[in-house]
Amino acid sequence: MIVRCGRCQTAFEVAGAGRYPCPACGTANDVRATEGAPAGGDLIAPPPPPEPDAPSPRINCNECEFSFIVGVVNEVQCPNCGVTVTVSESEGAG
Ligand SMILES: [Zn+2]
Ligand SMILES: [Zn+2]
Repeated sequence: MIVRCGRCQTAFEVAGAGRYPCPACGTANDVRATEGAPAGGDLIAPPPPPEPDAPSPRINCNECEFSFIVGVVNEVQCPNCGVTVTVSESEGAG
């Protein structure tokens, strides 16, 4: 890249960013990296956002109408009245 001496305006070529003495007058010239290129480009992709909590399946006991959250199970015992409640897995079918 071509830089111009800040003192005598002599143009001279340098390899890149750094500090170079002017070949004409000897003045040290600080050369910066090419504009536009990020200095020390460490482009680390940001971590993916945490997955949103899956909506917990909630059912109502058909005996006592008690509403509670169930896991991935087919049947669960109502914590209120103890009756076994069948968990419907798919919605909208019927
Ligand atoms: Zn110079
Ligand atoms: Zn119940």
